[in-house]
Amino acid sequence: MTFRKHFTSLLLLLISFFATKSFSFNLEEVADKIYVHFGFQEDANKINKGDISNIGFIVGDKSVLVIDTGGTPSIGEALYKKINDISGLPISYVVITHSHPDHYFGTNVFINESIDIIGHSKLQRSLDANFEFYKNLQLVNTRDQSVKEFKNFKITKIVNIDKNLTIDLGNRIIEIKAWPSGHTDNDLSIFDKKTRTLWTENIFIRRTPSIRASVKGWKKNLEETSKMDLNLIIPGHGPVKKKNEALKPMLSYFNRLIDNTRKFHKNNLSLSKAIEKFPSENIESWLLYNIYHPSNITKVYTELEWE
Ligand SMILES: [Zn+2]
Repeated sequence: MTFRKHFTSLLLLLISFFATKSFSFNLEEVADKIYVHFGFQEDANKINKGDISNIGFIVGDKSVLVIDTGGTPSIGEALYKKINDISGLPISYVVITHSHPDHYFGTNVFINESIDIIGHSKLQRSLDANFEFYKNLQLVNTRDQSVKEFKNFKITKIVNIDKNLTIDLGNRIIEIKAWPSGHTDNDLSIFDKKTRTLWTENIFIRRTPSIRASVKGWKKNLEETSKMDLNLIIPGHGPVKKKNEALKPMLSYFNRLIDNTRKFHKNNLSLSKAIEKFPSENIESWLLYNIYHPSNITKVYTELEWE
């Protein structure tokens, strides 16, 4: 074989490897008729093609509720196809857990008049304001051409902070809760009464939680979650866990951020000094820590500056 032939076959092998990696769309049934597609624990890039968040669905006797739709229209279409293959029941609801693009760029395929799109009362504003910015970002990061077709959409059912939305999928009651500011200002969680499973993007497993709204608010939400009677938690990123196992690393990390930052403020340390002096050990072994930890310090520093 010539060098060129070797090179071509190696190239084909590589292409098929990456193609399998990005196009295999696996689902796992983590509890009775609750299916999760686990995204890669990475930032969006051209190899994972934006497939970085947990998305999936819950099947009742009458219909299906979808939770998040993925980071690109291609991912949303793959999910849509799997739902039809697995359940064959009509989809009645799509819940968008919050306004980060890895969770909702696959929504367009689900838009029709028999499907309600559910979001926090503060979600629509964020979708509208960030539409162009996120579309550009997703296209640049994933290089997935389907992103070019993505269109902004309207939430048809709003959930308010003081009032849970209850849905019956047919012998299956689902409660959707809108949370005060935590990861973002428009976080929703989905609770399945039958299996006592909570699907919440407020929880990150292994991947560093990125604080965008409020560390104190987020911590409060976690403390409230710890009081709930739950069998299982499906996080926005990472594997499913029992409640305490899911909450412990996050609370430990948030307390570490808050305690150290309060000390920095007491000693009048500047932000750049605070970043420099923050104890360097990644105690909870977070992934992508070097990327998200410095921005978390910045966020917490400004949040606690005037307390
Ligand atoms: Zn997010």
